Amino acid sequence: MICGVTDDRRAVLHSVLPINVDSTTVGRVTSLDTLAVHAGRTDLAALGVHALPLDLSTTNPLPSIDSGGASYEAMATGGHPTEGGLVYQRLWNPTVARFEEALALLEHTDAAVAFSTGMAALTAAVLAAATEGDGRHVVAVRPLYGGSDHLLASGMLGVETTYCAPDEVAGAVRSDTCLVVVETPANPTLELVDITAVVEAAGGVPVLVDNTFATPVLQNPADHGATLVLHSATKYLGGHGDAMGGVIACPEPWAEALRRVRAVTGALLHPMGAYLLHRGLATLPVRVRTQQDGAGKVAGWLASQPGVREVRYPGLAECDPLHLVGRQLRGPGAMIAFSLEGGYDAACAVTESVRLFTHAVSLGGVDSLIQHPAGLTHRPVAPEARPHADTLRLSIGLEDPDDLCADLAQALTAAR
Ligand SMILES: *Cc1c(COP(=O)(O)O)cnc(C)c1O
Repeated sequence: MICGVTDDRRAVLHSVLPINVDSTTVGRVTSLDTLAVHAGRTDLAALGVHALPLDLSTTNPLPSIDSGGASYEAMATGGHPTEGGLVYQRLWNPTVARFEEALALLEHTDAAVAFSTGMAALTAAVLAAATEGDGRHVVAVRPLYGGSDHLLASGMLGVETTYCAPDEVAGAVRSDTCLVVVETPANPTLELVDITAVVEAAGGVPVLVDNTFATPVLQNPADHGATLVLHSATKYLGGHGDAMGGVIACPEPWAEALRRVRAVTGALLHPMGAYLLHRGLATLPVRVRTQQDGAGKVAGWLASQPGVREVRYPGLAECDPLHLVGRQLRGPGAMIAFSLEGGYDAACAVTESVRLFTHAVSLGGVDSLIQHPAGLTHRPVAPEARPHADTLRLSIGLEDPDDLCADLAQALTAAR
């Protein structure tokens, strides 16, 4: 194992960079920063291009009925295209496949499968888990992103969901449990969950970790035993608030099951989205680290402000009782939640008074956002599990943190 990469992954890693790799230089190839720039681009020089090729074809010429049909069959059952070609975009798209290859390398998994949104990815994971076996029960650790909580509670996917706290997973798992869903750091209040402990408690049931907040820069759930690693690529992976997508990094047999679901249900990532998300990966490490530096300053400053009751940020000791930062999470990230002494009215005033922050849902982009989870992103969550009405969530962007603090200072003053 090198940096959490198994030996059979080495062959793939070797193919990532066109350099002579021996046992002494493998470290260069597994470096996150290098992979972020080069993964999924190995063949570009041979193609004679420098930027990622964008293939928008919805259909592809067929060499013959037999070979086209064989390739169709291979892809519709979850495999890769054969000599018969790509057939139809719902089955395969080369621009999407490049992004998937890059994300698998960043998440230390065999494969990745991309979808139109994070919610489409979660839907596919639940459908794959439920249809591959005969279990129809999901265990979900709260808190989760409001949309995920809502989807699992809705019954729409034909599964029954038991919600629990991280230390209640073992008791919640049943003989018909097909999936355990967990998010860490959790949206919106940054709770940290010990992935290894949840995997152990799941007792062989596959665990899906939503890694949207941490990104592969700060956390690789597969290294801690997670089977499926989900991202809302709409957030940090794209990083510029202009492309929606979802992706699941996983072992190859799971990728086949997910591609089967995708081919049948059709929740595809558009190639233009894949192009933008893949381009975003190159700057992901620098964005996340710089945004994290800014968030550390904003969180520390906020904690000493009058009118602020509590700040939740994994970098604050009281928010990391299990000491997961450093052990599981390589850094505290760039998301902050805080509550106000003035409650909901103060939250309204702050969101209406900010000038540099944009009052908007979503997160992970280059510019800073502020939003009220109970009223917006977590609105569909059952009242007993909904975030408190006094809580706001910040997504820290690339602005100078002093300017962000100044903006929050005037908004907090306006709220008092
Ligand atoms: C936004 C988000 C999702 C849903 O992703 P979409 O791309 O909006 O469908 C899932 N999980 C988390 C943690 C999110 O923040």
